[in-house]
Amino acid sequence: MNKKNLEKSRTVLAVDIGGTNIKTALIDSDYNIIDERKSKTPTTYEELISYISSLYNSDIEALSVAIPGGYNYNKNIIFAPNLTTLNSKNILNDLKGRFKDIPILIENDANLAALGEYHYIEKAEINNMILLTLGTGVGGGVIINGNLHKSHTSTFEIGHIISVDNGRKCGCGRYGCLDEYANSSALTLTYDELSNTQSNLSPIKIGELVDEGDTVAKETFSIYSKHLAKAITDLINIFVPDKVKLGGGLSELSKYYLDDTIKIINNDIFPLYKDLTTVEVASLKNKAGVIGAAVNYFKGN
Ligand SMILES: [Zn+2]
Repeated sequence: MNKKNLEKSRTVLAVDIGGTNIKTALIDSDYNIIDERKSKTPTTYEELISYISSLYNSDIEALSVAIPGGYNYNKNIIFAPNLTTLNSKNILNDLKGRFKDIPILIENDANLAALGEYHYIEKAEINNMILLTLGTGVGGGVIINGNLHKSHTSTFEIGHIISVDNGRKCGCGRYGCLDEYANSSALTLTYDELSNTQSNLSPIKIGELVDEGDTVAKETFSIYSKHLAKAITDLINIFVPDKVKLGGGLSELSKYYLDDTIKIINNDIFPLYKDLTTVEVASLKNKAGVIGAAVNYFKGN
């Protein structure tokens, strides 16, 4: 951290609630992480609220929370297909009493990852950027003319556009959503379908099999590229952003699918938009949620 007098520094408590882990960080206005913690996400909603509340201290200026789901700003309710204990809960009200009068911000985690990547990594030097998070679920956020696009709710549930008509059943209730073809369990499912097995192989292991020359593993990533390229091509055709970035755990396996994805995009894109958008791996890794939460407060977006 810098040598600033701590008594004078402004700090936000950033909380990133994930399906498996909850990460928290005390972050100052220069985005130095003063203290960070990671633990298993509590299994009940009440325990989750108690855990977050236990981190309160009088030095923090605000609480900024990243949630793995959509958030309605007017009704303060959540829909989280991958962490259903949060569904329909008014987390803002439930935290308010425990955090005195400090501001509390709630936002979708992938929207925050986009905001963090844009301000913290890109330093806001480009105008339009899309970030996709490829992990347990598929999410994202879009920066338009320097601002995170919002509506009455958080936006950009890109995981829930249709990739395959009448395809795999999705947690949102629809069939064939991109999420079911581009999240981490989708790779395993595709591998198993192609090999007619129940392998339960992790994505990392499937990548290792590619390195060993396994043709089924190669085909698994080839199919993955096609689904991803289709979605990104559609996004570029709509937004023509300066950059499309890929974050989330699966972005760390990009060497197995990114080149093919870019080839398909270049082939399929609306001709006028060719070469206007860079598609690359995001720089903020597992800190995207907490950094994005801090940016959300300090930038007042
Ligand atoms: Zn869906």
